[in-house]
Amino acid sequence: MNASSNTRSWIESANGHADFPLQNLPLGVFSRPGSTPRGGVAIGDSIFDLQAALEAGYFNGAARAAAEAASRDQLNDFFALGAGARQALRRELLHLLDENSPQRARLQAATDGLLHPMSECQMHLPARVGDYTDFYVGIHHAMNVGKLFRPDNPLLPNYKYVPIAYHGRASTLCVSGAPIKRPNGQTLPPGENVPQFGPCKRLDYELEMGVWIGPGNASSEAIDIAEAPQHIAGLCLLNDWSARDIQAWEYQPLGPFLSKSFATTVSPWVVTAEALAPFRSPQPNRPEGDPQPLPYLLDAADQQNGALDIELEVLLLTRQMKEQGLPAERLALSNTLNMYWTLAQMVTHHSVNGCKLQPGDLFGTGTLSGPQAGQFGSLLEMTEGGKTTVTLPSGEVRRFLEDGDEVILRARCKREGQVSIGFGECRGVVVG
Ligand code: MN
Repeated sequence: MNASSNTRSWIESANGHADFPLQNLPLGVFSRPGSTPRGGVAIGDSIFDLQAALEAGYFNGAARAAAEAASRDQLNDFFALGAGARQALRRELLHLLDENSPQRARLQAATDGLLHPMSECQMHLPARVGDYTDFYVGIHHAMNVGKLFRPDNPLLPNYKYVPIAYHGRASTLCVSGAPIKRPNGQTLPPGENVPQFGPCKRLDYELEMGVWIGPGNASSEAIDIAEAPQHIAGLCLLNDWSARDIQAWEYQPLGPFLSKSFATTVSPWVVTAEALAPFRSPQPNRPEGDPQPLPYLLDAADQQNGALDIELEVLLLTRQMKEQGLPAERLALSNTLNMYWTLAQMVTHHSVNGCKLQPGDLFGTGTLSGPQAGQFGSLLEMTEGGKTTVTLPSGEVRRFLEDGDEVILRARCKREGQVSIGFGECRGVVVG
């Protein structure tokens, strides 16, 4: 199922590509100028057009059914088919795009638009998202933020028992590149008792992974922890834009509302569970003295192999840096091993009360900060709630985001003996 580490593609740009070598094959929805959105696969600097490949007769059997579902203007139908269909499609794509493919000459000679330069394509949301839920499983983020508000008691007592989450807003999900309009709202100025209304002054990003749900469950039927991985189609990057001043005023007692629902950006490529398989890890041991998960959240195989080792990065590029020709500045480097709960535990907990998950639902993991400076996934943590500043190579300083600032998230998987794969980018520019 996984291409061995020395397998190369006849698509030259794929070989050694930082994000999209043959070993990745993420799926997304793209359009070319004047054409309607359709499903494709990222390979090197190109997009492999599943509709065109189907029309040219390249897929048969289970791979054909999977490719048909994946070629539509949303991946919901493909996600619903589950692991068997994903694996059939992946097997066939690995075969077709391998440098030794018997189909290579025919594919290379094709004039039927099988490959499109990615730079000429527009990306769309990969699925129609019925429901979006944002978790809070980055324990260092929870600790860092908790310390700002409750220095002596940063984590509330439920944190180590419950994978905490809130229901987000699916309608304002957008794909990488969409501008982010600074939200208006109510905020309570320091020392005041009465709120004011106006533009958010403490706009922030959150470094998260997005989890795309594959097959769902029936209402009132919980997903067993051992079965939970079968319900995850793949992952993307997710920026949970956050208006900290609006959040501070509105969030008690029910949690985030308008401070989050104005925009959430995802990266366009869904990196499948199969592509991520070589980068699975044991779930890191809980610190001494922490409780074990309750039995419904505890599974030996999940503890042994249910975490992921994905390096995560946040970069900032201001308008002035762009004008001066400066590169984006890295603000943080972190890793998905900072998750206190596994993806399977998130899926199982979400469904344990009978809540129905559906194909194309999206989870955010929560901000994935590390414990140390240089690993913080939000400005709230980097500047300790705006008390300190970040100095950029242009000489500019930031407490929170200014208009014209572009936030760029990246992620990659690296492991000895494996070809590295990446997620592409999740970008957004703040506009006033
Ligand atoms: Mn979040």
